[in-house]
Amino acid sequence: MSETTTPQGKEYLAGWTPWRIKRYWFYGLVTVLSLVIPWIQVDGNHLFLLSFDKLKLHLMFVQFDMQELYLMPFLLMILFIGVFGITVLGGRVFCGWMCPQTIFRVVYRDLIETKLLGLRKRIKNKQQEPDYSKAENKLKRVVALLLWTGLAFIAAADLMWYFVPPEDFFAYIQNPAEHPVLIGSILVIVGFLVYDVIFLKENFCVYVCPYSRIQSVLYDEDTVMAIYNPNRGGDIYNENKEKVFTKQNDLLSVNPSAECTTCESCVTVCPTHIDIRKGLQLECINCLECVDACTEVMGKLGKPTLVEWSSEKETLFRKGKTDYFRPKILGYIAVLVIVSIVLAMMGSKKEYMLLNINKENRLYSINQTEEGKTRVDNAYTFLLQNTLNEDHEYYFDVIAPAGMEGKIKIDQPAKPFKVKPGIVKKKVVVLYTEEMLVNDDRKDTVIPITIRAYAVDAKDKVIVDRQSTFTFPRADLLK
Ligand code: SF4
Ligand code: SF4
Repeated sequence: MSETTTPQGKEYLAGWTPWRIKRYWFYGLVTVLSLVIPWIQVDGNHLFLLSFDKLKLHLMFVQFDMQELYLMPFLLMILFIGVFGITVLGGRVFCGWMCPQTIFRVVYRDLIETKLLGLRKRIKNKQQEPDYSKAENKLKRVVALLLWTGLAFIAAADLMWYFVPPEDFFAYIQNPAEHPVLIGSILVIVGFLVYDVIFLKENFCVYVCPYSRIQSVLYDEDTVMAIYNPNRGGDIYNENKEKVFTKQNDLLSVNPSAECTTCESCVTVCPTHIDIRKGLQLECINCLECVDACTEVMGKLGKPTLVEWSSEKETLFRKGKTDYFRPKILGYIAVLVIVSIVLAMMGSKKEYMLLNINKENRLYSINQTEEGKTRVDNAYTFLLQNTLNEDHEYYFDVIAPAGMEGKIKIDQPAKPFKVKPGIVKKKVVVLYTEEMLVNDDRKDTVIPITIRAYAVDAKDKVIVDRQSTFTFPRADLLK
């Protein structure tokens, strides 16, 4: 009979890639995307830009004016529903995998302090602070601070590019005296990033970030997160959340099948300084460093990790597989799809010019023409804005109700007029008729009309309809 042996150590862990390495790759992707997105533009329209100085929103290469910010609530709904849905599905996965705070801390602590300068001994031990009693470490700290400050300037500039497009940003910073708000914003962001990343550290995630407060109400037993498996590892904490075992022998004397070695690798690696064996805690940012740590420890013994990326249902309650596509998640997906469709539909109905029509207070004027005809004038003020990037010539048609077609004509302006990009042009418009539109002796008649305004050189794209009225006097005034 052949004897089977359980693989242990390197053999057991062969082919295993720690979550930490996968996270680094993901951080790289997030960083590249956040740096590149502000530069992506087509015909001067950005993929995303919320320009405060030009009062424009650019979304998917379409420009919207601030008057068109009815789209913003939909964008915010997508953001919030997306974050809530992801939290129900994967806990604070955003914190561990995408949040700039976490990425910045990894860059500063793991790359600059640990790998580059050797201020910290090991990435796997985040509890041991550098020894600043040594003069050499004091100097290294200054170097670390300078390096991070340089990176903080890049991060601050990158953030500003979402509000001031890069092409303007670099022009503005060459004249700092003329752009004190921009320069001040950059300096404030840099100051915050230096304080936050070097001094506040993960205390931001634990005490400041509001997201950690809402997450717990979103969790259910299928939410996936870092979970210690007490069914295999044994209970290290009692019901009052007090630690009762620090040595493996003590644990084994009470629970001989307990597998936790009490090595505390999962504790020392934790950036928020918690012990995952105590159960779900608000401080956990789902970075999965503890999963890596235990995978390595238990892998050397030929066993699977005791800290899993799993759900309470699967690991704690042993009620079967995690249900990813549960009604709650499907509900979030459905709402997201609906809001996205509404956003796309509203975005596609974008008008490439803005037009407000105000009717003059005086309802009408009645005049006699040289040919002896009676003419009725109505006056209006048009506020027309060219929301495109190039000059256009604009004009309009008057669409009268059935039976009156062509009887209401344009007196002013007599010909198309030019409007520069972004400019709001005020135009006095006079409409007139020489026809007897309505024969009513008792009262004036308000006739509904449609003003169809358009860019003469791009009528197929730049065209809008606005409803207005033409007031026709009572018949006795015309005699
Ligand atoms: S317990 Fe600590 S190490 Fe583990 S996932 Fe949470 S924050 Fe990361
Ligand atoms: S790393 Fe694993 S074995 Fe070590 S203390 Fe944590 S849970 Fe126990």
